Amino acid sequence: MNSYQQKDLQYIWHPCSQMKDYEDFPPIVIERGKGAYLYDVDGKSYLDAVSSWWVNLFGHANDRINRALSEQAQKLEHVIFANFSHVPAIDLAEEIVRIAPEGLSKVFFADNGSSAVEAALKMSFHYHQQTGHPGKTKFAAITDAYHGETLGALSVGDIDLYSKIYKPLMMNTFRAAGPDCYRCPYGKSREMCAAECFDSLERVVTEHADEICGVIIEPLVQCAAGMKIYPPVYLKKLRRLCTKHNIHFIADEIAVGFGRTGKMFACEHAGISPDMMCVSKGITAGYLPLSLVVTTDAIFSAFYADYAELKAFLHSHSYTGNALACAVARESLRIFHDEDVLARNEIKARMISEKVATLFNAHPYVGEYRQQGMIGALELVADKKTKAAFDWQKRVGYGIYRIALEKGVLLRPLGNVIYFMPPYIVEEEDIEKMVSVALASINQYFKL
Ligand SMILES: *Cc1c(COP(=O)(O)O)cnc(C)c1O
Repeated sequence: MNSYQQKDLQYIWHPCSQMKDYEDFPPIVIERGKGAYLYDVDGKSYLDAVSSWWVNLFGHANDRINRALSEQAQKLEHVIFANFSHVPAIDLAEEIVRIAPEGLSKVFFADNGSSAVEAALKMSFHYHQQTGHPGKTKFAAITDAYHGETLGALSVGDIDLYSKIYKPLMMNTFRAAGPDCYRCPYGKSREMCAAECFDSLERVVTEHADEICGVIIEPLVQCAAGMKIYPPVYLKKLRRLCTKHNIHFIADEIAVGFGRTGKMFACEHAGISPDMMCVSKGITAGYLPLSLVVTTDAIFSAFYADYAELKAFLHSHSYTGNALACAVARESLRIFHDEDVLARNEIKARMISEKVATLFNAHPYVGEYRQQGMIGALELVADKKTKAAFDWQKRVGYGIYRIALEKGVLLRPLGNVIYFMPPYIVEEEDIEKMVSVALASINQYFKL
């Protein structure tokens, strides 16, 4: 252990970690980054195959973003966002409305993903209170959902590992069985599917429509659940159902927005517009915390009245609309435009799938490889025939992660799912390295 690591463990409580694990596996202290690579204080390099928790889009220390950030820092770092505004926020909001699914026309700012989810939930509830439906006080969501770690977001989420202990603190959410394409209970394949599994959500929502203000969902990929990918037709059905019952469709695009799935926003695959869209993570290309709830004129109007009617949405965060974050987000969207990022990602996504197909051909422990745009996931199973999972206590994914780190690739798993979610600037040789180290690490772990 070097002296930085000793001090780190003396003072820091790391997120999403059992700190005892750090006794024999201390934190890797990163000194700098460039492109898809991170460099620790001892000079060892790591290919950042998870985009530093799904946020980085154009590499570390990106020249264009660095310039936009330092230019903005010379002018204005932050200003109160009530009654005040600034050009980076205005430009960003205008561009977001231009590229967002049709009908999303108003931008509410927050400063991280969970706060955007909280704001959207409050906004949805509050809307129904002010439009003559005070009985609509609950939300519906699907199994394996993930919407963040604050109490409201945990309540709509469904990953026991993060939420079970806090149940007594949480609000009640109507829960429907979500899609599970790898282990489809209807025996369908992804190609031959009409989202029969939507039945469960349809039943729950129809039965409790008078009590439900909104359905929150991660469009197309439930990332935290292990990159569970499901077909767009599910979202089409949900759109119809929500409209029918005056229920908000809240799209949590925090992980999948900004090109991750192959389109700018995942909802576009289904050709639908949500009533609210939460975005964060990639919005600043991995530089600064920022999030948005993008919503409709109809929802905005329900809060628009003379002050004395007390209808305003009085939600705020100190760093709402931070100018540095907005300037960086605006520059990131310019990069999308100038460098034709979505078209180039198509080529890179194909490289990833081809590389995986060649190297992982008939691998004894890979139950499924699934991919959607720039997200690829290998689900490791104990038995390919029965699709039986490994016992969680074995920590198979974690063991492979540690081997891959030694080999210089950051592949932080989700349980027994090893996934690829690299920055969009990865080159063919990086993709080659990412996939071949994944294979070598898996094989080393299983002594193959
Ligand atoms: C990461 C994530 C969140 C929470 O965002 P934070 O910035 O970590 O609070 C919410 N929803 C989804 C789908 C996410 O992936």
